[in-house]
Amino acid sequence: MNAIVPTLLALISPGGHIMSTIECYSEVRAFIRDRMRKMGIRSTFIDIDEDMESSLKDVLDQNNDVTLFYADSLTNPMLNVGVMKSEPRDTEQKKGKKGDTLEDGPQGDPPTLKCLDIRRIVQLHHQKGVLVCIDSTLASPINQKPLTLGVDLVLHSATKYMAGHHDVIVGCNAAYMIIRGLKMMALRVEASNRTALLMAHLLEAHPKIDRVHYPGLESSPWHHLAKTHRAGYGGVVSFEVKADLHGTMRFIDALEIPFIATSLGGCESLVQQPAVMSFWGHTDEDKANNGISNNFVRFSFGIEKFEDLRDDILQALDRI
Ligand SMILES: *Cc1c(COP(=O)(O)O)cnc(C)c1O
Repeated sequence: MNAIVPTLLALISPGGHIMSTIECYSEVRAFIRDRMRKMGIRSTFIDIDEDMESSLKDVLDQNNDVTLFYADSLTNPMLNVGVMKSEPRDTEQKKGKKGDTLEDGPQGDPPTLKCLDIRRIVQLHHQKGVLVCIDSTLASPINQKPLTLGVDLVLHSATKYMAGHHDVIVGCNAAYMIIRGLKMMALRVEASNRTALLMAHLLEAHPKIDRVHYPGLESSPWHHLAKTHRAGYGGVVSFEVKADLHGTMRFIDALEIPFIATSLGGCESLVQQPAVMSFWGHTDEDKANNGISNNFVRFSFGIEKFEDLRDDILQALDRI
């Protein structure tokens, strides 16, 4: 956040207009929507869906004051879920898909990892003189290089894959730790990519799993984009187990290797069940609006041996 806030403030002045996506890191969304609005900066959030290109064109055609497009790619399938029904909304380009209304928010779509067509987005914005800034944290610098796709600015949360050990929240004092983390980043990310892809395939074929969300799977609507844009598909996989809230809790509790935590991008595997973690205390309606089902699980695969993680996940699925 310490990199994001000054970047946004430096590039957009009061009276300006920023465009972003509904699914973006929640703190950034809140900053744009609440703080920047108070500074007299307008914001428009659009959906990442098959109509995204026409939404972008509409906004750019109708508003010649947009100076920056800001988005995450990959999107984080958990920390930056869509719009809470209870939150106030700014201008949002909703397409009325599946009966959505402006008030209803994204209905029931599970928060998958979505990829942007970065090249196309850059083309559309540069035609209008608009800068493009991408938060590439989820992809890591190993898997995706947005500058080579034409993006003007790239941001990473160095807390995640760059530091890579779940032991720093990045600030000046963390520089030494990040330098150490960076030296092994390529090895770590490659190990996470490999394990995540193998596990995604294995889970997709498992009788106790309903659905797996991972851009490395051919079943993912983002597979084609991920394949052309990226060197690897990343270490984060989300899935829905065939169980209710308590069955899913039994699965999580039976796991012996991963820590139960909400971050991502480090050596150790992390697992979380949003229904009882990030969305604890939210109403069932809020959860439904954000596509958070009781059986939804997010895994950030670390660098442990694949066979150990596989055996651990399989024995935990047996305990549901
Ligand atoms: C964690 C995260 C951030 C915030 O990073 P900090 O280092 O915690 O300030 C921003 N964007 C994304 C996509 C993240 O996952």
